[in-house]
Amino acid sequence: MHAYPNRCRRHRWSLTVLFPMFVLLAVAPLAHADWFSFQGETMTTRLDLEFWGEDRARAEQIRDAVWHEFDQVDRIMSRYREDSELSRVNREAAKAPVKVSEGLFRVLRQALRVSELSEGAFDISFGSVGYFYDFRAKRQPSAEELKQGLARIDYRDIVLNERDRTVSFRKPGLVLDLGGIAKGYAVDLGIAALQREGVRHARLSAGGDMRLLGDKRGKPWIVGIRDPRAEEKHAVVLPLSDTAVSTSGDYERFFVDESGNRVHHILSPQTGKPAQGVQSVTILAPDALTSDGLSTAVFVLGVEKGLAMINRLDGVDAIIIDGQRKMHYSVGLMAPGS
Ligand code: ADP
Ligand code: MG
Repeated sequence: MHAYPNRCRRHRWSLTVLFPMFVLLAVAPLAHADWFSFQGETMTTRLDLEFWGEDRARAEQIRDAVWHEFDQVDRIMSRYREDSELSRVNREAAKAPVKVSEGLFRVLRQALRVSELSEGAFDISFGSVGYFYDFRAKRQPSAEELKQGLARIDYRDIVLNERDRTVSFRKPGLVLDLGGIAKGYAVDLGIAALQREGVRHARLSAGGDMRLLGDKRGKPWIVGIRDPRAEEKHAVVLPLSDTAVSTSGDYERFFVDESGNRVHHILSPQTGKPAQGVQSVTILAPDALTSDGLSTAVFVLGVEKGLAMINRLDGVDAIIIDGQRKMHYSVGLMAPGS
């Protein structure tokens, strides 16, 4: 009489233990949580993505969702595409207000905000001069091109209408270029895509613009800031999490002219020439749209004015490497009492 209930109990026990074990064994070779890393290219820059994910097939889907965000931003904001929204704005906004997508409007709004903060050191209408530079062909504007182009640069001639979400120009000849800010926005969209997919630990960078989601599972991410004159060396290494980091440098796109001058891609809207006095600027901020615009702005402003601007902003910090390779830090990064 005793044997029967006992056997029954043993049987029940073995099922409850064996069934989950069976499931584990069946799934184990497929679901293998790990760090996944991917490289890509878009918007003429290299993309790097690393995140903690469940398994490779799923990780590849997530990567595709992130890359898709970059393709979209490129399609809307590239100045190299005739059919981008930005090109349409450049062609039509002097004639009539142009209705734009929410994304482009956001980027334009932030661009104008950085222009005001930096008193015009950052100015997306630099395109009327910028278009005469070709860093691969080692070309820069002639004196005449410079004169004509400079007269057209003025962010105050860009008018945004919040209610209708339109852009218009106060005068003809304005040429907008979002090279100093659009990549940061794309990085933010990439991070939002990762969050939608349930990712909690990630690092995403596009050229000099990076954003960290969470930490590296219990440790900070280690971010190296490049030595502007030695590709493989770091000038400084920072432990960080949940933040955006953008670096603007005079080494990204440049050529050396006949007189031995370094002609690089960050231009002073006042002179139309490459900004002098700084080799690189790194900005830390909550999001990459903010850090990207500000890194270009501080590069143009230089050490003193650049740090003064950053020190006025909450939650934003800067590391500047000047022309003599000396490092400068914003107040938020200094040791107490220094
Ligand atoms: P990258 O990440 O490509 O190195 P940065 O954020 O350093 O870019 O910005 C450099 C780019 O910004 C240039 O290639 C150009 O497209 C644009 N740019 C250059 N000078 C200015 C300026 N004074 N104001 C706004 N944008 C600028
Ligand atoms: Mg920038």
